[in-house]
Amino acid sequence: MTTRLYENPIFLEHRTPPGHPERPDRLRSLNIALEHPNFSGLERKEAPQANEDAVTLAHPEEHLFAVMREVPEEDERINQIEADTYASQKSLQVALTAIGGAMAAVDDVMTGKADNVFVAGRPPGHHAEKTRAMGFCLFNTVAIAARHAQKVYGVERVAIVDWDVHHGNGTQDIFWDDPSVLFCSTHQMPLYPWTGKKEEAGAHGTIVNAPLSENAGSDHFREAFKSRVLPALHDFAPDLILISAGFDAHHRDPLAQINLVGEDFDWATGRLMEVADRFAGNRVVSLLEGGYDLEGLAESAGMHISRLMKG
Ligand SMILES: [Zn+2]
Repeated sequence: MTTRLYENPIFLEHRTPPGHPERPDRLRSLNIALEHPNFSGLERKEAPQANEDAVTLAHPEEHLFAVMREVPEEDERINQIEADTYASQKSLQVALTAIGGAMAAVDDVMTGKADNVFVAGRPPGHHAEKTRAMGFCLFNTVAIAARHAQKVYGVERVAIVDWDVHHGNGTQDIFWDDPSVLFCSTHQMPLYPWTGKKEEAGAHGTIVNAPLSENAGSDHFREAFKSRVLPALHDFAPDLILISAGFDAHHRDPLAQINLVGEDFDWATGRLMEVADRFAGNRVVSLLEGGYDLEGLAESAGMHISRLMKG
């Protein structure tokens, strides 16, 4: 497999208050893991910054303006947008670079420059609803990537698989009544953002939620994947698979208690690659979402990327 990774030093410049789990050290930790010789075959590229217009692929213009108004002019200032979501001076550029990396990743798999791509960006995006920044997220990067694939390459069916331990309420909100996008999510429930029940299926049955209880562990996670996520993917036959790759279901993570291990992310990646091989010409684009224990994140993201490289 040809695997690319998008990164950019600007990703370290979205700042949150001291003690906030979504912090620049997350990417520093992943970077150290990527120094291992296993990753020497990875094509590492600098993520480009998207134009502001890209945001409107998944959000009304008003949401873009609302976020822009929250960005402080002073270097030292950090503005609180809502409960736990913040903006610092460079946050708009940083979020646009996460979007630019995701769009470039879609370009790469659609034009055959890579089989699959991982975007090591921040802030995460899957909690951002059409008109609301929340849960550390300003814009819904994975939704924008899906729309980009449809708009530029005419991709008919995009599947988004979200294994972040929190429900991807924003992605669900954006694609609720869109039968061209399948959204599958495994997540701990009850847990922030308190959505993601099985009964939430979208207007066309293309939302597939697989909630897991506290302490679910590897077996229940894999069972949910096998019984809900994989059958939905086979029925849908996607032309492109996007992954909202959060690693906060890892047992070390301080924000949740599903208690997965690194091998679970390797396993889930392998299953999605089988689906991509069958239906989508191997095309997989994976975007970093959550993952707040530095060691747990480095271990599980490393195993995920290794699997992408090996096939
Ligand atoms: Zn999360």
